[in-house]
Amino acid sequence: MASPSLIPAHFIVFFVVSRLMSIIGNLRPSKNSLPCEIDSLGVHAKLRYDLDAIGLASTDYGNIVHEIPSAVLYPTSIDDIIELIKFSNECPLPFNVAARGHGHSVRGQAMAHDGVVVNMLSLKKHYKNGNGIRVSTSGNYADVGGEQLWIDVLNATLEHGLAPLSWTDYLYLTVGGTLSNAGFSGQTFLYGPQISNVLELDVITGKADFMTCSKDQNSELFYAVLGGLGLFGIITRARIVLAKAPKRVKWVRMIYSDFSIFTRDQEHLISTKGLEYLEGSLLMDYTPANNWRSSFFSPSNESQIISLLKKHGILYCLDMVKYYDDETANSVDKDVQMLQEGLNFIPGFTFMRDETYVDFLNRVRRGEITLKSKGLWDVPNPWLNLLVPNVSKKEDYGSKCTDQRSRDQT
Ligand SMILES: Cc1cc2nc3c(=O)[nH]c(=O)nc-3n(C[C@H](O)[C@H](O)[C@H](O)COP(=O)(O)OP(=O)(O)OC[C@H]3O[C@@H](n4cnc5c(N)ncnc54)[C@H](O)[C@@H]3O)c2cc1C
Repeated sequence: MASPSLIPAHFIVFFVVSRLMSIIGNLRPSKNSLPCEIDSLGVHAKLRYDLDAIGLASTDYGNIVHEIPSAVLYPTSIDDIIELIKFSNECPLPFNVAARGHGHSVRGQAMAHDGVVVNMLSLKKHYKNGNGIRVSTSGNYADVGGEQLWIDVLNATLEHGLAPLSWTDYLYLTVGGTLSNAGFSGQTFLYGPQISNVLELDVITGKADFMTCSKDQNSELFYAVLGGLGLFGIITRARIVLAKAPKRVKWVRMIYSDFSIFTRDQEHLISTKGLEYLEGSLLMDYTPANNWRSSFFSPSNESQIISLLKKHGILYCLDMVKYYDDETANSVDKDVQMLQEGLNFIPGFTFMRDETYVDFLNRVRRGEITLKSKGLWDVPNPWLNLLVPNVSKKEDYGSKCTDQRSRDQT
């Protein structure tokens, strides 16, 4: 008679292994919230559930918000992303899909709670021809993958003596990431933000359609995606306007103690021809004159500024930049002098640096390296950027809006 307690050995092994597998499965953050059919997709092998991948995708520069995705896609082609989004649409309970560029958002914008984060940088390694940055033969534009970092766009276009016109202060951000926002820096007053310097996009829409769009083709999609916070599709290619790259810059910083005088000069300068960059910033008496984003002052200048700060508590800096190259090297100082004529910064408080164009554009990187070396990068980084409207021009603005509205109504 067979004993009822006898269980075949291979069954026990099978039971233990399958139990272990299910425990390990539960450790994989929340894979269970994805439909199991995901395992039959072609992209299945490119989905990662390990803690390294999940940890990265649930962290950003802000280090304030942490949303745990179920998986992270490391695509090797655009088709991988299309397949994933298509699958998400076909599921009875669609899951979120978010593109992650370089993760320099501050409040979890590139995260996908219980969904799938697409690690766009993974595409960079899988170009069959070239590096994902192609300069047109006319030299008027470059076609650039959405996953490319702006620093790489700069280096690739400089090989042709060309460069984009509009920048961010910091270049280790992806093209898709900044075009989903706006992309601001000191060139914006002249050329508009980066989103105003795009001729065409390739986009994977929320319905998994791959579409090319521009102001003349699928224009609704084009304008929705530019500045669309990643909500209207994933940018896989952007056609960026290029122009001749300058070689060097004269970078001038002027100091003010009166906010009205500071903004008046700022407005005067943006209406003047001949400068390529203008940005304002504050110095407070509890922060060093040279901060991580910009160490501009020499030690002797710094002590001058510190005593001025002690007196006023707050100072306003106006940074203006004039580009130049071999042909204009002899006249650039005179041009800067002329630009400064009639400005009302504190007498004597104007400082100039002469830098290569690349060093100037890449200035925040120096600060980043210093912060990282001090272990001060991977900490919570609250960040607030404000565009300050000109209150004294409020009436003008109001009447312009009314004019526009009445035109729209007729
Ligand atoms: C140190 C630092 C300096 C900065 N300086 C500036 C500055 O000078 N000017 C400025 O304008 N901004 C600046 N920013 C803000 C920055 O431009 C935005 O946070 C930008 O979104 C970051 O790009 P990213 O590649 O890291 O994008 P991520 O943080 O990875 O993503 C940002 C958003 O874009 C979406 N996204 C990412 N890739 C794509 C894609 N291919 N297609 C569609 N959507 C996508 C994401 O889903 C998310 O919504 C700075 C940020 C930091 C941390």
